[in-house]
Amino acid sequence: MTQNNQGKEPIIELRHVEKHFGDLHVLKDINLEVDRGEVLVVIGPSGSGKSTMCRTINRLETIDSGEILIEGKPLPQEGRELTQMRAELGMVFQSFNLFAHMTILENVTLGPIQVLGMKKEEAEKVAMDLLTRVGVAEQANKVPAQLSGGQQQRVAIARSLAMHPKAMLFDEPTSALDPEMINEVLDVMVKLAREGMTMIVVTHEMNFARRVADRVIFMADGQIVETGTPDEFFDHPKTERARDFLNSIK
Ligand code: ADP
Ligand code: MG
Repeated sequence: MTQNNQGKEPIIELRHVEKHFGDLHVLKDINLEVDRGEVLVVIGPSGSGKSTMCRTINRLETIDSGEILIEGKPLPQEGRELTQMRAELGMVFQSFNLFAHMTILENVTLGPIQVLGMKKEEAEKVAMDLLTRVGVAEQANKVPAQLSGGQQQRVAIARSLAMHPKAMLFDEPTSALDPEMINEVLDVMVKLAREGMTMIVVTHEMNFARRVADRVIFMADGQIVETGTPDEFFDHPKTERARDFLNSIK
């Protein structure tokens, strides 16, 4: 997107972010800005640092150097402020991470009650609206194991949305799903994108990326190797690495 940056502040900003795991240099001078309402798709081979980058954004991983700013402010280091910030950056992983011993409704109301201090009835009302939006309202009183993978992942999305996130981070949200369930999850994400949610999505679903991405970044070996619109990236990849990768997943 071409943008007039006058008075405009990215929601998420990474500046010169570096990260090692022991001798392994996993993030190399990562610089990234995500604007309000933008959908950024992150593509790249396994092991290129995509998950680590996402995890640094809500501080599930610390960084060695550089800066991460959320709405212009540095990420809080710990405590209540960090909990609050994490809630504002909804994260959906490959594995659904629902609480197995709680009902679907309880999974979605837990955060709003405990972190946002919402009353139970209010939280349940909000939760039922969200479960309706993602198409699993009839499952509200079941436990996760009674739901399909696609349904569980939609609940995970509803659970994040219940915290009124400023942005949503999706890390390969459909990779663990049976093929017939992928679209029901992608459809929810497309809807969210159309409604203006700011999103970072790590995915191998190229049709989805073409449909919703404002911008695609290609990561390899801990670096952002290419940045462009979906058309630029998919139709005219600039680097050999991106071309090889795109050929390998066809
Ligand atoms: P991607 O999501 O692109 O597949 P990751 O961010 O998961 O890549 O991993 C990047 C590299 O960091 C890989 O080589 C991976 O094995 C390594 N790695 C990831 N997490 C850890 C960890 N907690 N400890 C050590 N190495 C890790
Ligand atoms: Mg990953």
